[in-house]
Amino acid sequence: MTAEPTPEQRQRWQGDLARKGMDLYTLLTDVLAGKNVTLTTLKMPHEQKPGEKKEEQLRRYLDLVSRAQKRLGTPAWGRCVRCQARLAEIVLDEAPWTELCGACQPK
Ligand SMILES: [Zn+2]
Repeated sequence: MTAEPTPEQRQRWQGDLARKGMDLYTLLTDVLAGKNVTLTTLKMPHEQKPGEKKEEQLRRYLDLVSRAQKRLGTPAWGRCVRCQARLAEIVLDEAPWTELCGACQPK
């Protein structure tokens, strides 16, 4: 049983999401400017879709972050988008943009 998030937690996640969104946006700008950027240091889902360009990957991550920003403060926050199971707080602290619980993660 997990308690509802406190305002402090919400604020922290909000800050984490905003920072990540800015990082991603900076990287995307670099990619579009033709710079060679490496995405391996990003703490984002590492799965890569075959043939996906860095630009597409970054846009997908940005979407993920902006969806999480919309969920924050709604009852959907902190729940798996597929099965509505609660996500562990440690998972949200590590990666507040997480959408799927362990059981629903693609293997
Ligand atoms: Zn799930």
